[in-house]
Amino acid sequence: ITIKNHIDGTPQESDFHVKTAVLSLAVEPGSNNVIVKVLYLSVDPYQINRMKRHSSTQRAVDFAVGITPGEEDLVAGVVTWGEHSIIRGGNMLRKLDPMGFPLSYNLGVLGPSGLTAYCGFFQVCKPKKGEKVFVSAASGSVGYLVGQFAKLLGCYVVGSAGSNEKVELLKEKLGFDDAFNYKEETDLKSALKRYCPDGIDMYFDNVGAEMQEAAVANMNTFGRVAVCGVISEYTDSGRRAAPHMLDVVCKRITIQGFLTADYLNIYPEFISTMANYLHDGKIKVLEDISYGVENVPSAFIGLFRGYNIGKKIVEIADN
Ligand code: NDP
Repeated sequence: ITIKNHIDGTPQESDFHVKTAVLSLAVEPGSNNVIVKVLYLSVDPYQINRMKRHSSTQRAVDFAVGITPGEEDLVAGVVTWGEHSIIRGGNMLRKLDPMGFPLSYNLGVLGPSGLTAYCGFFQVCKPKKGEKVFVSAASGSVGYLVGQFAKLLGCYVVGSAGSNEKVELLKEKLGFDDAFNYKEETDLKSALKRYCPDGIDMYFDNVGAEMQEAAVANMNTFGRVAVCGVISEYTDSGRRAAPHMLDVVCKRITIQGFLTADYLNIYPEFISTMANYLHDGKIKVLEDISYGVENVPSAFIGLFRGYNIGKKIVEIADN
């Protein structure tokens, strides 16, 4: 799958080519190149920033899963959108131990989304038991895990999402204390005042723009904003968060962006903690799987329309 042109605005099916081509067998002795047969592909919102003419992010922090024929190693890594991928030098791959979990978990709960939720919440937000947490895009692959981490720590947790079905899921299945449909609110600032009557100590920001402004307006003294992503700004270059800076000063608020790629050193700690949570049934897993390489563009486009619940994955081949 390739893009026809650089993408400006909301991605459409017509932005993508689905092509069939014969891969040159570039795996010669000594070349260190690896042919990957792709089993599962991850689609992620940040990928749109690499499809624009002017990209703000140069490096991917994302992985996908595949098998190298011949040696039959399971690997995770950065691959192209296709059924097979040639990885030059093999240095974007790592061997994968599924630890008895479904392979797809390595793109979500045990993969980049899980690590993002883990480092963003524990390292950037620096949470304490009993604090009030607000998470946006709370039913997305990062947000649904942040909310569950916060509940496990004994925080009060509120989430926002784009449908009533998602709101019910957050409250009934994932244990959020409260949740709301941001599309039904005309004034986000007053909505947050209603849903977080004791203010917000930590805001895990996945969307940016007006939601970030409303969250800062409702923050408590020494509140922290972990800016994980700003999905509402990715498809609209005119949208920008402009939180009230006097609020930031007077309430001594910390607003910190972060990249998961800077936290690879805590990957072993993350994997063992998350594997224990999963074994103990403490974390619920939400996956939203499509099938077939031809459905990669629609899976990706759906992220910007709120079609996914939990981690969006495309299964490319049987495993
Ligand atoms: P998902 O792909 O799982 O979900 C995206 C969700 O965002 C959609 O389901 C939709 O849900 C919501 N959304 C889409 N458009 C808008 C909009 N205009 N306004 C508000 N909400 C919108 O997302 P992830 O959980 O994988 O990613 C969440 C954020 O984290 C993204 O901004 C992403 O770029 C960022 N990220 C950052 C990383 C880092 O290293 N800093 C690493 C990984 C992700 P709804 O129905 O609620 O609208």
